[in-house]
Amino acid sequence: MILDKFKLDNKVAIVTGANTGLGMGMSIGLAMAGAKVVLVARRDCEETIKEIEKNNGECYFIKADLQDFKSIDLIVEKTIEKYGKVDILVNNAGIIRREDSIKFSEKDWDEVVNINEKMVFFLSQRVAKEYIKQKSGGKIINVASMLSYQGGIRVPSYTASKSAVMGLTKIMANEWAKYDINVNAIAPGYMITNNTENIRNDKDRYNEILSRIPAGRWGTKEDMAGAVVFLASSASDYVNGFTIAVDGGWLAR
Ligand code: NAP
Repeated sequence: MILDKFKLDNKVAIVTGANTGLGMGMSIGLAMAGAKVVLVARRDCEETIKEIEKNNGECYFIKADLQDFKSIDLIVEKTIEKYGKVDILVNNAGIIRREDSIKFSEKDWDEVVNINEKMVFFLSQRVAKEYIKQKSGGKIINVASMLSYQGGIRVPSYTASKSAVMGLTKIMANEWAKYDINVNAIAPGYMITNNTENIRNDKDRYNEILSRIPAGRWGTKEDMAGAVVFLASSASDYVNGFTIAVDGGWLAR
């Protein structure tokens, strides 16, 4: 049965930035498909845990600050201690800083690039080593952006890091496909989360963006669930190094 290939029963998934927004939507989706979900964030994940448990799903919270390189070992070690293995990694945690490029600070560059790019690579590397040790293969799903394709304005470190995510997705897939590791990405369009609060509060900007989304609406965290379950499941075993847009058709315009 083709639908059985989408099931994630007995799979263990790590999702970073799981307490809110897209990470919350993807964690709930993975849990509903049967995965045990390890929720990673700096703040508590109460709302995500409540939603997962309400639907009889299973999850486990690890508090970690991804600005700290040591959190990589902590996340993987605690996951193995709790569930004995890992099968799926979703590199979702990400931040954005808005300022004119002419005034952009080194701090706003380093903090964004550290979380959105460097930690995505090194957490993936750490988890890939685990997949190789387990001889199990595994899935890595990165979160890219429309700014992996376009330049944007006033977000230079974000554009740099999200463009890098698309490239890293390809190189990791190239090198690790031979271990049955699939590395792919999801590029969300304009979604209603904290990340876009500033531009949504600017009514002109909000409507300008809305007017070019063919679907006629901004995206929601629930819109991410289908793509992440597909990329986490054996239904996507021959999909490697690709970035899927979940954007209501934004890139098609
Ligand atoms: P969000 O609501 O701001 O969520 C960001 C998440 O990242 C939070 O869970 C946050 O947890 C976590 N995070 C940030 N810094 C962290 C750190 N130092 N350590 C651990 N976790 C950290 O934004 P979102 O829109 O859901 O963003 C999720 C991903 O989607 C990001 O990679 C973003 O770039 C990408 N994206 C979003 C959109 C959009 O339109 N919303 C579009 C394209 C791509 P804490 O609160 O604990 O810090």
